[in-house]
Amino acid sequence: MDKRELLKQIPKIDEVLKDQRLFVFFEDTARELIVESVRQVIDEARERILRWEEGEPPKLDPDRMMEEIIGKIRQKKQKSLRSLINGTGTILHTNLGRARLSEEASRNVSEAAMNYSTLEYDLKRGTRGSRHSHIENLIAKIVGAEGAMVVNNNASAVLLCLSALAKNREVIVSRGELVEIGGSFRIPEIMELGGAHLREVGTTNKTKLDDYRNAIDEEKTGVLLKVHTSNYKIMGFTAEVGLSELAALGREYELPVVYDLGSGLMVDLKHYGIDEPTVPESIRSGADVVTFSGDKLLGGPQAGIIIGKKKYIDCMKKHPLARVVRVDKMTLAALESTFREYLDMEKAKDRVPVLSMITVTMDEMRNKAILLAEQVRRATDAYEIEVIKSEGQIGGGSTPNQFLPGYAVSVIGKDVSPDRIERDLRACEEPVVVRINQDRVLIDMRTVEKDEIDIVAKGLIACGRKYSRG
Ligand SMILES: *Cc1c(COP(=O)(O)O)cnc(C)c1O
Repeated sequence: MDKRELLKQIPKIDEVLKDQRLFVFFEDTARELIVESVRQVIDEARERILRWEEGEPPKLDPDRMMEEIIGKIRQKKQKSLRSLINGTGTILHTNLGRARLSEEASRNVSEAAMNYSTLEYDLKRGTRGSRHSHIENLIAKIVGAEGAMVVNNNASAVLLCLSALAKNREVIVSRGELVEIGGSFRIPEIMELGGAHLREVGTTNKTKLDDYRNAIDEEKTGVLLKVHTSNYKIMGFTAEVGLSELAALGREYELPVVYDLGSGLMVDLKHYGIDEPTVPESIRSGADVVTFSGDKLLGGPQAGIIIGKKKYIDCMKKHPLARVVRVDKMTLAALESTFREYLDMEKAKDRVPVLSMITVTMDEMRNKAILLAEQVRRATDAYEIEVIKSEGQIGGGSTPNQFLPGYAVSVIGKDVSPDRIERDLRACEEPVVVRINQDRVLIDMRTVEKDEIDIVAKGLIACGRKYSRG
């Protein structure tokens, strides 16, 4: 057989489109995606024939081609932003979307999305309202601040704050706190962008109150800034100025003291091994303005929350940048519900997923691990499965070097490498992201909810069957 004859055997796109096996897809898939998939598989077949020089001629297997077409259609139908199961044990995994919202917050998002709302409407008076009003009082009440506003994320909160309070003026900050947060958020660069001038004081490991005091210049100074070193710790021969001392200095010179807190922890979790400053405590320390993220330890949507003295908050609300970094109704809906959970701090520990994942007991994690291990063992003998102790993490650039002891299911493939299992679990219809530690696949139970156990088991079992077949 020569190339020309082989090429003649390639089916036409229109013929393939009439194949019954494609009918189901026409119901809910854009025709263009189906045609494109057919064309790609046909083009690949043609390529193979054209490249063929000697030896066995390439075969045209219609069933095989149809399988490839269906595979491609399925791939193209797949959304890019998909949900997945986080088996890494890292609660605020930045790559996996940081905080999971509470049920109530998720419901409220979809309600806000599907309906008209009071976003900027005052129902009582029938006039235009403010989008800040929905949560300002709520946040202010819970954290004990005079005012509050919400912007796109904490990076924009810091930018807005410095632009509004320190443009063309100096911002005094300790050399030990010139933080870089992943993704090119650097305090010195944000400062420049906001039109403020960085005035570094102290040294990397030690900064004293007098360092700040000596740098204050009545003409030039605009803000005293403290930055929580969320993602690193300076240890050993160190000294930093506490927030309340800095606040007192600010009052003495009538300068606003701004605290970039970062993580937004609302409840004291020292008891659970989390040593982080909380939002209410930061306000009590006397900071004039505190900024933090919505989707770190607060456990809400991506947002930047700015709280503090009313006169400063009002000044930020009026700043032109406020419009540039404003949040949409879905964020506000999620945030309002999240803050409402904190009206009852004890319940919040159960209802806000970030907190429940931190406060989950060893027993609960162990039970989940046993459940998963047994399900998988019963269905396949492709693995050696064990329930073992593990170390989870908060993540998201919070609480460096603080590990949370928990339980994981350890999976060792009898005939396959951990890398292969990790990759195959990622490729499942409902992807499971895991970590590999010492040649084992670990599925950490801290970040896997009870109702997700079946999904993880299904993935492991499906992969296991594939491995057993060889
Ligand atoms: C995380 C963090 C930021 C950035 O917050 P995003 O919400 O990610 O923009 C800024 N400052 C500190 C101290 C942080 O921890």
